[in-house]
Formats: sequence, C-alpha cells, structure tokens
Amino acid sequence: MPNADTHDIITYVLVPFTYLGAEMYWGGDHLMSVIATAAMLFAGLMFGPDLDLMSRPYKRWGPLRFIWKPYQVALPHRSALSHGPVLGTVLRIMYFALMFAVVAATLLYLRHAYLRGMQTTWTAEFNLVKSDMFSFYDQADKNYLWAGFLGLCLGALSHTAADLAWSAVKSIGGGGKGRSRRRR
Ligand SMILES: [Zn+2]
Repeated sequence: MPNADTHDIITYVLVPFTYLGAEMYWGGDHLMSVIATAAMLFAGLMFGPDLDLMSRPYKRWGPLRFIWKPYQVALPHRSALSHGPVLGTVLRIMYFALMFAVVAATLLYLRHAYLRGMQTTWTAEFNLVKSDMFSFYDQADKNYLWAGFLGLCLGALSHTAADLAWSAVKSIGGGGKGRSRRRR
C-alpha cells in the first residue's frame, strides 16, 4: 500500500478541490464547505481506514490512541469494514461515539465518586453521557452533520482509492516487488 506520506500528500492536495467542489455543490454556503473540507482533512489524517492497524493516523491520536486498540483487534486490516468508504466511515463514527461515551462516563464517574464523594454508578454516568449525546444530535443542524459526514466519506474514499490504485500498479508491474527484494 502507499506509504503514510503519500496518503498525507493526497489529503492535502484534496483540500482546495474539496472546498471548491463543496462551494459549487452547496451554492456557496461557506460554512457547509468549511465543515466538509475540515472533515475530509480529519478523515485523511486521523480518522481514516488505516486506524485498523499501527499507522500514522493511529499515532496522531497521541495519548488517546488507546481508544482504537479494540478496533484494530476486531477488524482485519483492509477489510471492507474499515476500508469501505461509506461503511467504514459509518462504523468508525459509531465506534468512536461509543468509545467517547465510555471514556467520558469513566472520567465523570471517577470525578463524582472519588473527588466529590457523590453516590453514583458508572452506568448512571454512562446513561447521562448517552442522553447528552442524543440531545446534541437532535439539536444539531442536520445539514452541517451531513456536510461533515460527506467530508469524512471523501477522506476515506481517497485513502481506499489510493490503496487500490497502488495494488493495481504493483500487480501490473509483476515482478517489480521481487526485483527490488533481490536487490536488497
Ligand atoms: Zn489502507
């Protein structure tokens, strides 16, 4: 597959095209274009298909990278579940929302139970976080969510397309890989 630099460069190159395409598509609604472009950039750099293995996007999560560990264990690298542009994006959003709720509930539980000595349970904190997240979704402008979703899908698509193009070029090249190996 293309190396991490190639994926990064493709992502950066796509920024102006995504923005201009979004401007045309949404008739110059700049906020929609900014959200879609930011989401594409985020997907290309940090929220892409290669979170299914030790990769640069994974490392970019820094101290929070641990949330992607179960994802890596559960999904075989380059399966449709991570590399499908739409399916992979939908699953990552659901997975991230769940992990976000779990981490937030744990932090709130520790804070309330141990720092403030309140009567609470982890499940109660989890349910509060969950209902906050649902009400955020209810109140959010769906157009902006849609723009963000399309941007995320585009970022994932650019990654998977590059992976596929790379594999195709390599298979046409035939013995290319063998030659370079012998040279080493
Ligand atoms: Zn990949």
